[in-house]
Amino acid sequence: MAITHSNQLVWFRRNLRVANNPALEAAADSQHAKPLGVFCYDQQYTGTWLGMPRCAPLRAKFLWESVQDLQQQLQQMGGELIVQAEEPETLLPKLCQELNITHVHTQRLFAHEEVAAAERVLQALNAIGVTFVQHECYTLLAEAEVYERHTSPLGSFSKFRRKVAPDTQAITLRLNPLSVSQTSAVAQENAVARENAEPQENGVWHQLLAHQKQTPRTRENTAAENIIENAVAQENGARHHSLKQSPIAINADTDSRSVLPFKGGETAGQRRLQDYAASAVGHYKETRNGLIGADYSSKLSPWLNLGCISPAQVLQAVREYEAEHGANASTEWLIVELLWRDFFQFLAAEHGADLFQGSAKALGKVPENTDNDPTFLAWCAGETSNEFVNANMRELAKTGFMSNRGRQNVASALIHDMGIDWRWGALWFEANLLDYDPASNYGNWQYIGGLAANPRGGSWFNLKKQAQMYDTEGAYQKLWQAQY
Ligand SMILES: Cc1cc2nc3c(=O)[nH]c(=O)nc-3n(C[C@H](O)[C@H](O)[C@H](O)COP(=O)(O)OP(=O)(O)OC[C@H]3O[C@@H](n4cnc5c(N)ncnc54)[C@H](O)[C@@H]3O)c2cc1C
Repeated sequence: MAITHSNQLVWFRRNLRVANNPALEAAADSQHAKPLGVFCYDQQYTGTWLGMPRCAPLRAKFLWESVQDLQQQLQQMGGELIVQAEEPETLLPKLCQELNITHVHTQRLFAHEEVAAAERVLQALNAIGVTFVQHECYTLLAEAEVYERHTSPLGSFSKFRRKVAPDTQAITLRLNPLSVSQTSAVAQENAVARENAEPQENGVWHQLLAHQKQTPRTRENTAAENIIENAVAQENGARHHSLKQSPIAINADTDSRSVLPFKGGETAGQRRLQDYAASAVGHYKETRNGLIGADYSSKLSPWLNLGCISPAQVLQAVREYEAEHGANASTEWLIVELLWRDFFQFLAAEHGADLFQGSAKALGKVPENTDNDPTFLAWCAGETSNEFVNANMRELAKTGFMSNRGRQNVASALIHDMGIDWRWGALWFEANLLDYDPASNYGNWQYIGGLAANPRGGSWFNLKKQAQMYDTEGAYQKLWQAQY
């Protein structure tokens, strides 16, 4: 299928949705043009680090489902998503030249590698005179809003919250494009003008976007085969096919004991958000330290971190619940957790490469490689001498998810009890967590290790007491006793 594309391209990163997507809205410049996007399976997905793959099959499957869902949504709007396993700084300039693209819109991200990737793309597009615009939509609060109220560097979360959002009810809902943060010098003026421009109200594409802002989608996915044939054709006949299969192995099935049957994509993410916000959010504060079941916490993180849903949409759903049932400590606390997420993003931006490296400050010994350290391998496989740790690690390996309570305990065990370098644990989490987010993952690991933002200088958990308190009857450990 050939389509008439616009001269605007959206580089989708961790904003894999069509609703409430400022980059997509900004690219919708013409009544007749179809949305054209690209997603790159780059080294952050396909690569290895310290000898370990960065994306294990369950995480890769969730990602592939999310990319496919986005592709189907764009096709429904008459557009297309080009999916390739290539670095963005090489793929984007090629596409821009072949398809006569003048503007590339994307999402602004905060962690070091992501910032560096955007910088490389900026340079490459600058060299061919293409305007590059980054839109801030990954966090609940905009960066400017944060630093208006808080001086850099950020200290602890409690200070951040006190200064930046002391009253969660006062956080305003912004479903419109947030801001333009960076562009090529060539077209600065042009891009800044966009910042204040309202999206055009005409055209099928805009109508669809407007509609999707209001209505959660329930459409069933069409068969994957349908997307294989699609290609973007240029007038001169150049064609750009999308990958037909995930470039990373996805041959894993989620264990039936999973807290949720996680499925990637905006469609499934919206469904989960609506389900959770209909009622369970009302008891979030009392249940959030749970270990078993779908509703002890929101389970929104996998969709939030690939951008299948946005923090603004979560806030909107919470506000709708509050309008019907009244605000309570639980609705407030869920928003506070989103602020934790924001805090780690801005902290990551401040720390730059130190977020990952930290070698000078690393705790414990650094194993030469993962194959020859039996203690580390036992931790990964859930075969340590502690059954509470084992249960959590098995849940992670078999479902791609682990509760926040579990994450704190297994991280503390690895760092403080086993004396293993925190980065190995963080890397195992990176590969396996469906909700992997660099800032949240490496930030939380550093927090527990006492390297960042922790006023107590680290967090050590007494595993025995924690198991007694949060798994009093031992039901969770029993659930994960069997390895099957
Ligand atoms: C060692 C360690 C590693 C972690 N790695 C990640 C990660 O890679 N990605 C990730 O999203 N979270 C990470 N977390 C934070 C937290 O455990 C998860 O966000 C949470 O368990 C996700 O489940 P939920 O969506 O049900 O959360 P809920 O309890 O329902 O919270 C709602 C949302 O708030 C945000 N949130 C809550 N707690 C935190 C937190 N401590 N830090 C940042 N955001 C938070 C998440 O977006 C979450 O979806 C990590 C925590 C630890 C201790």
